[in-house]
Amino acid sequence: MRIDQDVKLDYKDVLIRPKRSTLSSRKEVSLDRDFTFRNYVPDFPENVKDYQYRGVPIMAANMDGVGTFKMASELGKQGIFTCLVKTYTAEQLIEFFGNGIDRRYVAMSIGTSEADFNKLVAVYAGAAGGLKYVCMDIANGYSEHFAQHVRKVREAFPHLVIIAGNVVTGEMTEELILNGADIVKVGIGPGSVCTTRIQTGVGYPQLSAVMECADAAHGLGGHIIADGGCTCPGDVAKAFAAGADFVMLGGMLAGHDEGGGEVITKYYLTNELEPIQKMSGIDMMREFPKVEEKQFVRFYGMSSDAANTKHFGGLKDYRSSEGREVLVPYRGSVGITVQDLLGGIRSTCTYAGAKTLKQLSKCTTFIRCTQQFNGVYASNDK
Ligand code: 5GP
Repeated sequence: MRIDQDVKLDYKDVLIRPKRSTLSSRKEVSLDRDFTFRNYVPDFPENVKDYQYRGVPIMAANMDGVGTFKMASELGKQGIFTCLVKTYTAEQLIEFFGNGIDRRYVAMSIGTSEADFNKLVAVYAGAAGGLKYVCMDIANGYSEHFAQHVRKVREAFPHLVIIAGNVVTGEMTEELILNGADIVKVGIGPGSVCTTRIQTGVGYPQLSAVMECADAAHGLGGHIIADGGCTCPGDVAKAFAAGADFVMLGGMLAGHDEGGGEVITKYYLTNELEPIQKMSGIDMMREFPKVEEKQFVRFYGMSSDAANTKHFGGLKDYRSSEGREVLVPYRGSVGITVQDLLGGIRSTCTYAGAKTLKQLSKCTTFIRCTQQFNGVYASNDK
């Protein structure tokens, strides 16, 4: 046993230092990025350009209530990417990808089973050129068979961009890229509904994981996704500033219409009194406690009891749940949330003096902090 004494950091441990900047408005900041992919072989004339991806490099996670067809259609309009949940059937996926969907911003997701491989074969054939990205992720990207599986998919599908994960260290990022991944998904344990660190004691502070994996990936011409742990637009900006090419969001995109979850209404008695209450048409001159109505949507980790019960009829007896189930506030359409998010990141860029998102990491100096914001009124938010 040994202890690595290097300090490793999370988003909450740093702030971005403001710098002199010639930018006068957030409008001047471009959040679009262009990427070419290391291992992917373009198959379409549209891809034989200087870039093979152009968009706002934010991704909706392949989680129930987030990685849905509706979410993909909505976010795709703004150039934002969606990794679909693994539980869509081949038929559903063929219909979706075969339907002229803008394939630039959507990936289907698979695990490592034989059935998943066969599903990919079927969807690729059935979608007739409509599928460009596949996201292969398992909770522990360190198992040997995972890299082998990435290689198998790379050999079978040279014309797919492969996203693979999850890992948190440079050497495993390199291993996946050398086995055929174009984009490596980084994050073990930081997620909003993840309990891996509690159940297993395993993990890696996310900001440091992103910095180290980005460094390893970029050295080989690969890319990374900072997956999990972003709680606010500032965290997303910090992830980009730390070198992430893409940032994947679960909780921050949960609770919206496009996620498709049932809206649950709850009633709370407040401490306020209402002076007059109409009862059966008669004005009662009495004071009644005011009842407040709040709306929520269920959100759960994909390794939680809830997800296992929904998709697989319960947890297998050798596994424990590594995710939780929560109620998140219902937030209407995702468009407003996205606007708020992009506004925040644009503002970060103006503070740091970055004209484009690409420049942000080069312009960034992180400062270690002991308190990242003043939370005195945080619970008073309306
Ligand atoms: P968030 O943006 O909500 O903080 O994190 C989203 C990420 O959490 C997902 O992209 C995925 O990597 C991870 N995740 C989703 N469900 C689970 C789960 O049940 N357990 C664990 N350990 N991680 C999960």
